[in-house]
Amino acid sequence: MVVTESIRIERTKHSRISQVDFANLPFGKIYTDHMFMADYRDGEWKNSRVVPYGHISISPATPAIHYGQAIFEGMKAMKSPSGDVLVFRPADNWMRLNVSGERICMPPVPEELFMEGLSTLISLDQNWVPKDEGSSLYIRPFLFSADEYIGIRPSENFTFMIILSPVGPYYSTPVKVKIETQFTRAAEGGTGYAKAGGNYGAALYPAKLAQDEGYHQLLWTDGKTHQYIEESGTMNVMFVVDDTLITPALSDSILAGITRDSVLKLARKWGMRVEERKVSVTEIMEAARNGRLREAFGAGTAATIAHIELIGFEGKDYYLPAITERKFANKVYEELEGIKRGTRPDPFGWITKM
Ligand SMILES: *Cc1c(COP(=O)(O)O)cnc(C)c1O
Repeated sequence: MVVTESIRIERTKHSRISQVDFANLPFGKIYTDHMFMADYRDGEWKNSRVVPYGHISISPATPAIHYGQAIFEGMKAMKSPSGDVLVFRPADNWMRLNVSGERICMPPVPEELFMEGLSTLISLDQNWVPKDEGSSLYIRPFLFSADEYIGIRPSENFTFMIILSPVGPYYSTPVKVKIETQFTRAAEGGTGYAKAGGNYGAALYPAKLAQDEGYHQLLWTDGKTHQYIEESGTMNVMFVVDDTLITPALSDSILAGITRDSVLKLARKWGMRVEERKVSVTEIMEAARNGRLREAFGAGTAATIAHIELIGFEGKDYYLPAITERKFANKVYEELEGIKRGTRPDPFGWITKM
């Protein structure tokens, strides 16, 4: 494809890498020297380029700001012990970007544009990929409307970008979650399955109320009855009841997480019993009360696995077994981290070397 041959590269004259303390990386505040951009104009992707990281200029009338015509992705790259940069399942993120885009009338980003943009950017900024165990390079691709038109209609112009942020080990402190039975993250027929900007803005207020009560995150329930568990923050949620791994089945109100899919594939490979189905709040609280709920965790790119320490429901907190006893979650975490870093075999072909 022509587009891949024509990535223009403008290198920075002043690398900022020497100012970065790689031993103390905050999440999402430090960005690498370069960024990738491409424009959609007159029905075609054009002008793909890697330029110094910096502010961008947009029209104040862009529908991305007014109407939330914006979607994003999140994935990670790690450095293997031999120094290769390994990216985890990037083609799945590319596909999901286009699933999200279709829902809010955006043109697909071609696979070549996504992959070549990513690999060109990463090879230029490869010294920014942290080497320490647990650290990684967080990759944020995103797509937004770039029209200068304040009317509400599908846009004609778009900008696709990728920015990179080195992040430190995510100290997976166990999370306290609260089952939300009043507010709704995503309704049937809505945009919950898309990584669309507006979903996250709308979730801030209910999450803040729960944080004021001392919880870290919400466990969202379905918008219609609030009786079925859906997901948590930007993570899918999983439970081990007795010896069975249980997770809500995907629907149009649940984001199809790549970590979720990876955990399920490993569990099935290990011969564990796995159920993807509707999961009622009653069933999980019952299992918590009678000691059958052995494990609960969130699955997502940022933390990989976030153990759930306690679940708040109707004003009461239910504590789960000690983290050290969470056999499955600990095992699958080690396995996934090992695959991502290239220190364990990759039987599903999840790793792309860049
Ligand atoms: C991104 C996201 C996830 C997790 O997806 P991964 O591909 O595993 O990172 C889960 N739920 C929501 C709402 C998300 O935005």
